[in-house]
Amino acid sequence: MISVQNALEIIEKTSRNYGSETISLEAAANRILSTTVYATINMPPFRQSAMDGYAIRQTTRIAFNVIGESKAGDANNFSLNADEAVRVFTGALVPDDADTVIMQEHVEREGEKIQINTMPKKGANIRNTGEQISKGNLALAKGTRLNSAAIGFLACLGIAEVSVFTLPKVAIIVTGNELQEPGKNLPIGKIYESNASMLSAALGAIGILDVQFCKVEDDFTATKEAIASKLLENDVVLISGGISVGDYDFVRKALVELGVEELFYKVNQKPGKPLWFGKKDTTFVFGLPGNPASALTCFYVYVLPLLRDLGGYGKTGLEKVSAKANFSFHNKSGKTLFLKAYLGNDSVDLLDGQSSAMLHTYAKSNALACVDANTVNLSVGDIVECLKFDF
Ligand code: AMP
Ligand code: MG
Repeated sequence: MISVQNALEIIEKTSRNYGSETISLEAAANRILSTTVYATINMPPFRQSAMDGYAIRQTTRIAFNVIGESKAGDANNFSLNADEAVRVFTGALVPDDADTVIMQEHVEREGEKIQINTMPKKGANIRNTGEQISKGNLALAKGTRLNSAAIGFLACLGIAEVSVFTLPKVAIIVTGNELQEPGKNLPIGKIYESNASMLSAALGAIGILDVQFCKVEDDFTATKEAIASKLLENDVVLISGGISVGDYDFVRKALVELGVEELFYKVNQKPGKPLWFGKKDTTFVFGLPGNPASALTCFYVYVLPLLRDLGGYGKTGLEKVSAKANFSFHNKSGKTLFLKAYLGNDSVDLLDGQSSAMLHTYAKSNALACVDANTVNLSVGDIVECLKFDF
């Protein structure tokens, strides 16, 4: 049995490959750029009016003749004399001969003549070519997360496809004779299968939608075959249940026979003691405990940082937040505890239903309170490290 810290270090140090793919910009929200993007155009591409008004060449005069109109999208580059103005609108091309745009609010117009009330500074109300970014300059660096603004920025540069880190392909295998699909009748002795939908919801929340599912009975051959097929096609295989020491727990034996290298088995923690981690070729395998709360806690603590890293997001697990305990706790187990908790502004409450089989309070929690294996007594007001759910 190894410590939580040790288990996390083993996962972090296990070598991995980062793939990349080219996808349409529309599909790239929240993904991570795998190459730096440079602007292939100036933005703005031409001198634009920033206002509805009149383009002129600045002089001391205040009266001008309006000789034409340039609205957004027009291409006409009017030639202007010193006493001439062009009616322009926001986003429209400003004629090369003009150096200033006067807001229409500062102009009196009669027929095709205007008189200016307030003359702005030379260059006013014009967005210069390349003012936002010039052709050839760095637009967004490799490693940038494509938030909504980044997607918009790349679109305004005319970019329709981007190269991003691939998201890992994940398989979920649930094991257990007792598992019945939700929506069907529940015969005596059976329970509804909940880990597949729970884990798949967690995967979906971090953008991983390419998920394969498989359910197997507690049977060695079936377990081995299911794992073998999922190993081939996925970057990460999550197996739920069957990893303890019961007579019908076949997952570990199957993994060993399939040549998946065991990198650790059993962690000094509660819940989730029988957690198993290994790798075959480029595929990572987690043997998660079957108890739903254990499976989810192991996902948050161990699986999430690996998945995020594979997707280019860095080795980022849940956010760590220190908070004052609103509870006292006696940790006689000698294990690191991950407790279902509710994090307030600067303090944290413990929830009922800490059993690893229970999800009813987990469903209302927003954090896990972590009690270190060496902490025996925790008093009200002591600082507790919490892992805050960010999805
Ligand atoms: P196991 O790790 O296979 O010994 O399972 C531990 C407990 O978790 C047992 O009570 C199982 O019935 C339950 N369990 C295992 N897999 C699931 C699942 N996919 N959905 C809900 N409960 C499960
Ligand atoms: Mg089982």
